[in-house]
Amino acid sequence: MMAQYLALKQEAQDCLLFYRMGDFFELFFDDAKTASAVLDIALTSRGEHKGEKVPMCGVPVHSAENYLARLIKAGCRVAIAEQVESPEEARKRGGSKTLVKRDIVRFVTAGTLTEEALLEPRRANMLAAIIELRGMCGIASCDISTGKMELEECQPERLNAQLARIGASELIVPDSWLAEGTLVPEQAIGRDKQDFSSDGGEERLKKIHGVSTLDGFGAFTRPMLAAASGLIAYLDHVGRGTLPFLLPPTMRSGDTSLAMDEATRTSLEIVQSQQGGRQGSLLASVDRCVTGAGARQLAEDLSAPLIDLGAIDERLALVQYFHDDALLRSDLRDMMRSLPDIGRALGRIVAGRGSPRDLGQIRDGLEKGSRIHDRLSERDAAPVLLEHAMPLLNGHNSLIDLLSRALVASPPTERNQGGYIAEGYDASLDDLRSISGNARRAIAALESRYREETNVSSLKIKHNGVLGYFIEVPSRYGDVLMAADSDFTHRQTMANAMRFNSLHLHEEANRITEAGGRAIAAEEAHFEELTSAVVSKRQAIAETAAALARLDVAAGVAERAADSGWCRPTLSEDAVLDIQGGRHPVVEAALAKKGERFVANDCQLEPKDRLWLIGGPNMGGKSTFLRQNALIVLLAQAGCFVPATSANIGLVDRLFSRVGASDNLARGRSTFMVEMVETAAILAQATTRSFVILDEVGRGTSTYDGLALAWAVVEAVHEGNRSRCLFATHYHELARLAENCDSLSLHHVRAREWKGELVLLHELAKGPADRSYGLAVAKLAGVPAEVVARAKSVLERLEKGRAETGGIAAGLGDLPLFAASAAALEEQCDELRDKLKSIDVDALSPREALDVLYDLKREA
Ligand code: ADP
Repeated sequence: MMAQYLALKQEAQDCLLFYRMGDFFELFFDDAKTASAVLDIALTSRGEHKGEKVPMCGVPVHSAENYLARLIKAGCRVAIAEQVESPEEARKRGGSKTLVKRDIVRFVTAGTLTEEALLEPRRANMLAAIIELRGMCGIASCDISTGKMELEECQPERLNAQLARIGASELIVPDSWLAEGTLVPEQAIGRDKQDFSSDGGEERLKKIHGVSTLDGFGAFTRPMLAAASGLIAYLDHVGRGTLPFLLPPTMRSGDTSLAMDEATRTSLEIVQSQQGGRQGSLLASVDRCVTGAGARQLAEDLSAPLIDLGAIDERLALVQYFHDDALLRSDLRDMMRSLPDIGRALGRIVAGRGSPRDLGQIRDGLEKGSRIHDRLSERDAAPVLLEHAMPLLNGHNSLIDLLSRALVASPPTERNQGGYIAEGYDASLDDLRSISGNARRAIAALESRYREETNVSSLKIKHNGVLGYFIEVPSRYGDVLMAADSDFTHRQTMANAMRFNSLHLHEEANRITEAGGRAIAAEEAHFEELTSAVVSKRQAIAETAAALARLDVAAGVAERAADSGWCRPTLSEDAVLDIQGGRHPVVEAALAKKGERFVANDCQLEPKDRLWLIGGPNMGGKSTFLRQNALIVLLAQAGCFVPATSANIGLVDRLFSRVGASDNLARGRSTFMVEMVETAAILAQATTRSFVILDEVGRGTSTYDGLALAWAVVEAVHEGNRSRCLFATHYHELARLAENCDSLSLHHVRAREWKGELVLLHELAKGPADRSYGLAVAKLAGVPAEVVARAKSVLERLEKGRAETGGIAAGLGDLPLFAASAAALEEQCDELRDKLKSIDVDALSPREALDVLYDLKREA
């Protein structure tokens, strides 16, 4: 057994091996140690290997899913080794001591789950593969629970941003990447480089979709196909040759969505909050979807907002349609509430792991879809997206009819007991069932007959797994049945009962088992037929599921908007951002819980006033203001209504959000380093069409360094990138930038001291902040009065010093402009260049050459 185990473990590599032994999956050696720690189950031992006890733990097969879920959550991968022959077969093969054959039947990994119990209904579960080919990265991603697959390509430096958008639970990379440490996120799994061949990718995709060319799906590039190949090869490996459901791949070209890098996504808390959960995220605050598929679609929309005006407007029109018709919206949402997850049921069926219940879900889902279609067609004049969706919602009548006739109302998850095919669907199955039914009735009749004949009123006919049907009487009546010169044959003597058989009973029992076995076989055959009927329509069913999800998203967003007075944004190509009465949905909800009111604020950026410098006390609402505007842009471009009274948004190509050094130690870089790396990325990438929010940049270093950097960054964004930008800072000195930067204006969050107490108004106003209120905030936060008093006297000293010397900003007044200082530098370089050009190297003596060098060095 140990030899068999070790061979399987070798195959399982770094996956935990679930080794089937009877009713348990057992784990040994290090696997056992890991699993017992994660699952908090007892670690025991069994036998010895190389003189040492073998650690062991096990989980019961019937509750294995629950344990699997916990292991996967903890980041483990599991290989399941099943017995692939019965003990009888093993005995026949090699005698009584032969070990039953076992094989790994599948791998369970975070990115390849299909089981309802292991998946979160409202979250897509992504698997991605990446490769670099000829200087470009190919990315293939899919959600195998629904079959969605996407291929894309990007520059290597944008890979991280794309991966952040996808948020894969498992990432497949060529193993050389792991060896070289090219890119090693925790969820990366290395696979043989040969798996990633573009020709292989093309072949695999053609084979899966039964086409001779991929042209119909898109013009995929070599890196995309190579990544697809790596992805499919991994799926093939994990499913041991059975591929899951994959829809034809769609192509995402790098520029179809609003670009956001990882730091921006994290700081805006789009689909998860900085604490890590969904709670507190933008997604959670917008999501009013009534189906899991809708919630997954919304998460995708928010993770990849659009940059195409037409497409955004189509989504907004659909939201508006449901927004304006409250009755239609509530009807639609009511109908959708009980809509099964068709996409995921289909995923399981196509992967060969479907159950009768999954077939029932397809039936019910498609049926609901066609009823939704009918309800929606009551109104004419529909927006474009609805027109597109309508034909996808029905058109499954023959399949619905087949499944309705074939299946019982609520089919079971297990199929080995039968009982899911409806009566009347198959006459011969009905016959088989009536044979067993009749036989069961005959057995009941037999019981009363025997009671009469033997005069033993406590005689019973019972059934168990070992004996089948038998007759049982209390021991004291045993003699009656033994003595009778009747049909009864003795089978078993128990402590206080005796068991018998009879010819008659035997016959009826046989009839039941035989008919029952045949009935199960017949149901099994129907299950296969129904499964293939569904599989043959998989594409159309997946489209129906997608259309329903889109409707759920739109109706959910409309509901959210109607609830809280959100408005439809207007989008244009102009470089403006005019948001009136904007709010931060997450902060607003948090305040509402405490019974406090959120103060709405306006933001008005345009080409001649495109950079706002925002000052004011800590806790005054600066960050909130910055973020709310970024979130409103994001929501608008995702096709959602926005929390504002009006919003006029010029399309944004890239969104950047940076928050001054905070505790980001998890990444192993100093916080200030992180801040600077991120700032560098903005300066390198932001364009005139980008929107940038910078919060307290420079906070992570000394005052002088910080102020100097903040100053230079504002100038660079203003002069160089020319993006729309909100810059929050507590450096008063920056206000002087307004003197030279003509598209920059000063703003502050208002605060007042009232009877010695600080009152934060959270209201944005024009002009520089008057003072910093730092001590007042400290007092508000509960810093002891004597410490605040001491700080006050230190402050007075400092301020006096500042008044005398001009403070840290002394001398900044005559600093040349950013552009001017750059020009001066350039001029100096030109002079040096001219001088270098004029040197005739061949004509110089060594001594002269040395002089020239000294000369140049002096001037540089
Ligand atoms: P700052 O960045 O200026 O330090 P924050 O934006 O972090 O301030 O806001 C601090 C707190 O003030 C928030 O957690 C919130 O409770 C409250 N707040 C912020 N903006 C508003 C607003 N517009 N209306 C009401 N309360 C607000």
